Amino acid sequence: DGMVDARDDLTPMLRQYYERCAEYEDALLLFQNGDFYQTYCDAAAEVARVCELTLTQREDSTGTYPMAGIPVDSAATYVERLLDAGYRVAVAEQVERPEEASGLVERAVTQVITPGTVVDDELLGAGTKNYVAAVTREGSTRAVAAVDAATGECLVTSVTDEAGLYAELDRLAPAELLVGPDAAVDPAALAAEPMVTDHGAATTDVETATETLSSYVARPDAVVEGDAERRACGAALAYAEWTQGGDGPLAYVTRIRRHDPRESLGLDSAAIRSLELFENRGAGASETLFDVLDDTACALGRRKLDGWLRRPLVDRDRIEARLDAVEALADDALAREAIRDALDAVYDLERLAGRVSRGRADARDLRSLRATLDAVPAVLAGLDDVGGDAARLHDLEERIDPVDDARDLIERAIRPDPPVEVTEGGVIREGFDDELDRLRETEREGRAWVAELEARERERTGIDSLSVGHNQVHGYYIEVTDPNLDRVPDDYTRRQTLKNAERFYTPALKRREDEILGAAERADTLEYERFREVRESVAAETDRIQAVADALAELDALAALAAVAVDRHYARPTFHDEGIAVEAGRHPVVEVTQDRFVPNDADLPPGSVTLVTGPNMSGKSTYMRQVALIVVLAQAGSFVPADAAHLPVVDRVFTRVGASDDIAGGQSTFMREMSELTSILHEATSDSLVLLDEVGRGTSTADGRAIARATAEFLHDEVGATTLFATHYHDLTRLAEAYSRVRNLHFAAERPDAADGRPAGDGDDVAFLHRVAEGPASSSYGVEVARMAGVPDPVVERSRALVDGAAPETNGHDEGAQMTLAGIDAEGGDAAADDAGAALVATLREADLARTTPIEALNLLAD
Ligand code: ADP
Repeated sequence: DGMVDARDDLTPMLRQYYERCAEYEDALLLFQNGDFYQTYCDAAAEVARVCELTLTQREDSTGTYPMAGIPVDSAATYVERLLDAGYRVAVAEQVERPEEASGLVERAVTQVITPGTVVDDELLGAGTKNYVAAVTREGSTRAVAAVDAATGECLVTSVTDEAGLYAELDRLAPAELLVGPDAAVDPAALAAEPMVTDHGAATTDVETATETLSSYVARPDAVVEGDAERRACGAALAYAEWTQGGDGPLAYVTRIRRHDPRESLGLDSAAIRSLELFENRGAGASETLFDVLDDTACALGRRKLDGWLRRPLVDRDRIEARLDAVEALADDALAREAIRDALDAVYDLERLAGRVSRGRADARDLRSLRATLDAVPAVLAGLDDVGGDAARLHDLEERIDPVDDARDLIERAIRPDPPVEVTEGGVIREGFDDELDRLRETEREGRAWVAELEARERERTGIDSLSVGHNQVHGYYIEVTDPNLDRVPDDYTRRQTLKNAERFYTPALKRREDEILGAAERADTLEYERFREVRESVAAETDRIQAVADALAELDALAALAAVAVDRHYARPTFHDEGIAVEAGRHPVVEVTQDRFVPNDADLPPGSVTLVTGPNMSGKSTYMRQVALIVVLAQAGSFVPADAAHLPVVDRVFTRVGASDDIAGGQSTFMREMSELTSILHEATSDSLVLLDEVGRGTSTADGRAIARATAEFLHDEVGATTLFATHYHDLTRLAEAYSRVRNLHFAAERPDAADGRPAGDGDDVAFLHRVAEGPASSSYGVEVARMAGVPDPVVERSRALVDGAAPETNGHDEGAQMTLAGIDAEGGDAAADDAGAALVATLREADLARTTPIEALNLLAD
């Protein structure tokens, strides 16, 4: 805005605007002016463009310039657009009332809204987490700290390898990433595409960070480990403070939770994505594992369950403790439903507590808080009824505290259905404050007196049409129509002249009016004061409220898992060290989106490499994913979709699934495939579960086959991870002959009998049984599929003969048809064909198959 900035004849208001802008340089400043947040000059043009608002011209003594305003009341939707467009938004609010200001109204930035630090409910999805994460590095240690500015959750962890760092960040999926001078992370490598914010060395040096941390915890060393964590945590908190107005520590960040990545099942972004835990990949089906499991009653539970799925456990005792609780709740339908009904009334306590503590809660928020605390006794009663002896549930019973004093205070102080505005009265209950009651009484008496005035004055003056009224500008008046003006008494003073009437007041009316207004105004102010006191007393209980919130969240998540277990006939998994043994397992998502699902067993001894063969669409990847999902669910503490499941506790789940899936990305598919494979081969252990789908498909057949084989051998010999490996390379199945722990499973290319019993004929859709069986698929299953699809018999027969190696490579009918690429290239017939041939060869040579999408390939072929 140099153009305007350079002018020295700015009005005081614009000067203030530019001062605030300068204080928040990398943000877009919204400048409150009454009911609007204004922006001026260049910023105005930008805001008008992004928010699709009209750009208006403002005119003052110094000239005209563009201006665009956002209504304060509906700011959220516009702020969202600005955030989406990549802006941080600084909100400069009027911090004194215009009528109290002795000149220009003072404005101060009270909040900087960035993607990672949004606290406004309207901008946040319910039940989602929204983190800003800071990453630091000390030698080979990298630390990640994350703050959810709405709820005050603060997490910190550190990792020693790069892959671990990205896995951690992909799990957090931060909306915003703080990167410092130590370049500890490459934001481009993250799946979540967070906004990237630079934070200078100053905010991350150890001393500053320790100082920041010390304002949250008495002994930082007891919470964080090492300088990297210290700095990351300090940076994330300092940034969160800055966005919330920057006046000191955030009172609602009541504890810092450190976790060790080794304490949870490792799911990197590839696994999270390919198992479709939270997001769909395919176009059609719209369900994810989370959708299937999310039978929570409130946002608290939804967030908790999300966290459990992102970080399944690896500690058997903790898993069993969760499963005990789920089982107890599953077995007791009555108590469970009572608890879930009670939880229905629970508002987002974590965010409410955040708002109360930030001094941003309105009277409705306090009522919501009270309604939530009101539900607590019913929750406790339900919990008390649950049969069984799950320690986790007893523990919850102890942690769920109705915070009676806060609840009673709100009940006594705040009216049941208060207005949104907290400064204009109507918020505080009668009987809460004597002074306030007196003022309201004065106001009421005054109004009653005015209400009776009309009758009294009619009688006194004898004017039947005389009326008493009120308007904003002139206040109370007595109105007399022109024909009756001669009967107006002496004590009437003229206030306003209308077309056919005059308006008057009397000294008594004026006195009453002043009294009413004075009392009302003092009452409003007093109410606001009392409201703030109540809010502050409640804020003093933030700790306890957050503890209740956490316990309710956990209970809700457990009850949801129990409800799903019952509704979907899941079984409780058991744990042992003898590999994966699943009876009649199902894919939790496909079984709900598909009419008919065929359950399959899985028997995978520790360290076995199971090759899964069969035609496309026969069910290979569904089967492999279902095994992984059962493992993930079990370790998250859930029952699993199977008749029975005996499982090991797995340390990590790796997936390398579907070469065609990432074609849209810029990186060559094959390169990406290989780099994913690299990390699997490096990091998998004998406690890991590895899923490989069609490894090697992105390159030539010979290469691909070689890589697939070497990979299988390496996993078998060196890694010892339990592996499921779907492959088209049929000869790979022979590995089972040479390796003791290599096994074969297949999905056959048999068509289920048509429902009407008629034999399968031409044009029928090829369908599969989806039933897994021992041994490798028949080497000619492709030919079978061709036959079922109705390919003419001679072609089928000839194909079969070629596969069996029983037929000569040429069939002697037409030698000329045996044209090969090499043949065209080397020598040809006439000159014209030569040119065409050469052009064709050149085109084919130039095609970069590793980067060609299926559609492009088809078009190329058609050309
Ligand atoms: P592949 O990996 O062999 O190509 P998929 O696992 O992708 O095959 O399965 C193809 C389709 O078949 C899936 O979209 C699913 O709808 C269906 N399917 C797979 N397994 C089963 C099953 N066990 N029961 C019912 N339908 C299944």
